[in-house]
Amino acid sequence: ATPTALLVGTGRGAQMGILIKGPEVLESTRRVDTVVLDKTGTVTTGAMSLTGVHTADGADEEAQTTALRLAGALERASEHPIAAAIVAGAVDRAGELPEVSDFTNHEGLGVQGVVDGHAVLVGRPRLLEQWSMPLTGALAEAVETETAQGRTAVAVAWDGEPRAVLVVADTIKPTSAEAIAEFRRLGLVPVLLTGDNHAVAGSVAAEVGIDPEVVVADVMPEEKLAVIERLQAGGKVVAMVGDGVNDAAALAKADLGLAMGTGTDVAIEASDITLVRGDLRAAADAVRLSRRTLGTIK
Ligand code: ADP
Ligand code: MG
Repeated sequence: ATPTALLVGTGRGAQMGILIKGPEVLESTRRVDTVVLDKTGTVTTGAMSLTGVHTADGADEEAQTTALRLAGALERASEHPIAAAIVAGAVDRAGELPEVSDFTNHEGLGVQGVVDGHAVLVGRPRLLEQWSMPLTGALAEAVETETAQGRTAVAVAWDGEPRAVLVVADTIKPTSAEAIAEFRRLGLVPVLLTGDNHAVAGSVAAEVGIDPEVVVADVMPEEKLAVIERLQAGGKVVAMVGDGVNDAAALAKADLGLAMGTGTDVAIEASDITLVRGDLRAAADAVRLSRRTLGTIK
């Protein structure tokens, strides 16, 4: 294509809310055959809400409030969509939250810190396992029943013991299913990639029309990168769409990285294209635009 055509193409993209970093990006966009989608914040709104609290000793309201207070205080220091849901729920039920010291973020796993003199850990059950605190009994059961229903279970431990399971639920963006149907029409294979558990990933995939064979769940941020590399080694030309800090490496490694404009700055910087409105349909629009601009529309 001529430089003028490329300029017109990127200009047209900008009008559609598709910010393209440079003229060469249109060529990689045209060649893509596989679209890897992050789940939380990309296919789903990421606007989660707290839907339940389970404690080790049944429905003890005081224990629930304590768990919320400690977890909420810690999550105030995190940018994760799950953290926002827990903070909102905690403020609602426990009021003002205490200060945190010695805060550590374990990307893709959870958070750790000291609250009210307690050493607190909040995150995936796997995070607690790493600290030799596997969930047992009522808490393990709570994780199983909640995740089977497509909700995300967040474990809470303090002073060396697992004490609660908080439950958060997300909503699928109303435009995601349509975007995925559009990818297929363009001949692209959609893949779902998430750090969330298999049950949640499977229920989201089913709802938006992604085949269960191409759902990759329960991965760590560095494994997201490995999934991209594996697809590329298999000869695929891979686009990755994501929004989080945990997606940045995969976005940079993909043949084409697309960040949700509603996502983190780190994801936007790592990407070739920003989808300003955070609407997945714009990713399909970008592919169509590149094919049209480069004169290869079928
Ligand atoms: P995704 O790939 O869906 O965007 P992440 O890789 O960011 O998810 O996180 C993977 C999982 O780690 C989450 O589903 C959640 O269970 C857990 N997690 C990550 N950060 C936090 C946090 N701040 N608080 C609680 N849980 C967290
Ligand atoms: Mg995400």
